[in-house]
Amino acid sequence: MTRASAGKHASEAPGAEKRAGKHCTHWIGGKPWTGAEPARRGDIYNPATGQVTGTVDFATAAEVDAAVNAAAAAFPAWRETSLVKRASVMFAFRELVRQHQAELAGLISAEHGKVASDAAGEVARGLEVVEFACGIPHLVKGAFSENVSTGVDAYSIRQPLGVVVGITPFNFPAMVPMWMFPIAIAAGNTFILKPSEKDPSASLRIAELLAEAGLPDGVFNVVHGGKEAVDALLIHPGVRAVSFVGSTPVARYVSEVGTAAGKRVQALGGAKNHMVVLPDADLDLAADAAVSAGFGSAGERCMAISVLVAVDPIGDELVAKIGERVAKLKVGPGDQPESEMGPLVTRAHRDKVASYLDAGVADGAVLAVDGRTHPVTGGAADGFWLGPSVLDQVRPAMSCYLDEIFGPVLSVVRTGSYEEALGVVNANPYGNGTAIFTNDGGAARKFTHEVEVGMVGINVPIPVPMAFYSFGGWKASLFGDTHVHGTEGVHFYTRGKAITSRWLDPSHGGVNLGFPVNQ
Ligand code: NAD
Repeated sequence: MTRASAGKHASEAPGAEKRAGKHCTHWIGGKPWTGAEPARRGDIYNPATGQVTGTVDFATAAEVDAAVNAAAAAFPAWRETSLVKRASVMFAFRELVRQHQAELAGLISAEHGKVASDAAGEVARGLEVVEFACGIPHLVKGAFSENVSTGVDAYSIRQPLGVVVGITPFNFPAMVPMWMFPIAIAAGNTFILKPSEKDPSASLRIAELLAEAGLPDGVFNVVHGGKEAVDALLIHPGVRAVSFVGSTPVARYVSEVGTAAGKRVQALGGAKNHMVVLPDADLDLAADAAVSAGFGSAGERCMAISVLVAVDPIGDELVAKIGERVAKLKVGPGDQPESEMGPLVTRAHRDKVASYLDAGVADGAVLAVDGRTHPVTGGAADGFWLGPSVLDQVRPAMSCYLDEIFGPVLSVVRTGSYEEALGVVNANPYGNGTAIFTNDGGAARKFTHEVEVGMVGINVPIPVPMAFYSFGGWKASLFGDTHVHGTEGVHFYTRGKAITSRWLDPSHGGVNLGFPVNQ
């Protein structure tokens, strides 16, 4: 970001004299990278204006190697740093992020496009994981059993892995990295973040705040770039584990390449989240929830509701209520307080999302609300705008249903029964989040028991677990066994060791060639 990287390369970016924008370079060994000129740079856009606002360096294997070396060099001392000291760095970091929450939100909004209040919300949700990590002395406690055999004790400990990597998507440039590095670092690992090249600035501000909090150089590093950087991280012999969050094809690839290279991998993928509305539900509550969860952050959330499953006979009434609410949504630049929904992240993504409206209609869906005609208040003409849309009468065979659209398009599927609705949800290849809206506790319980999805809401449309639970989906939404943060996060970033110990006493007993069993 500007402060971190305004140095060496700032005026050297191709076209910088014309653009005079910010310049993001890597953060390695506690400072901005000052090595060789990058072979490649990418442009950073402000989605609300459609203009280039800066450039970001793309790492090659050489910069990745430098980051791994810095992290590896920092590991022995950091690992020996006491739990209480590591926790104290997290406490200090928490305070700094709170102080700079609005600044971070502004950086995110200017590159992602989401409205500033939403960006502040993602920082707050990330902070919950930092707060969880402050409890690391408790979280890595092992067990101790005295006298497993007479005079013999057994205990278990969990130890850090070494250099671990986080590869993150554009849609939560602060929160998703904060799902990973607070626990990884607090547990004694050193960390390399490869954030999205679309909105890289928040990661560098975070690096600065971690340094200010007292984190030693090399414990947290950032390398920017795309596939080349990811590939170098996945096969680097110095990397022990990889956490990935992004789209399903890349998650599958990261999982396959990373595990083949001997890494521990957790790879969270895409989503198609269904909200089932039963006929007894409060339809105003359900309509509010569908609009909030469908169009918040312009639908660019992995937990966004993208499919509404309306169980007969409430479909017409529910779609009408949603239409009334959608018409009132204020679409505009993220830095304007009255905006409720911002632009999409790139022009190409906006165009792709919009193409599903035509595809849906061609397949027989009904375009109940066309976001292409929604007014944009205060937005530049070249911004990546697309208002909220509702596609009704969608069938599971249509491309607008099959694909993860990842934009402000809510598809409505009508079903005749609870069983049919459950069948639709369970037949979908994704299994990230889902929700049921009903006033029947028995129906809600049955749904939570039967649905094949990792995170379930009951009258809650976006059931993102708190930091002390773990976040993760099922099926094509997760490759690997371990969800992020919570106790599963602690488990992922540590490995167990079981120790059996005998301190000699006069009865130690002499030679015994038998297998050790309890007598
Ligand atoms: P993406 O898969 O395009 O990119 C994610 C990361 O992978 C980025 O750092 C990117 O630079 C890198 N990358 C992209 N293409 C690559 C390739 N071919 N090889 C190696 N690395 C590559 O995802 P995105 O567009 O940034 O983010 C949106 C996606 O992330 C959506 O599918 C969304 O559902 C998903 N997501 C999932 C969760 C979850 O918890 N399951 C959370 C947030 C976002």
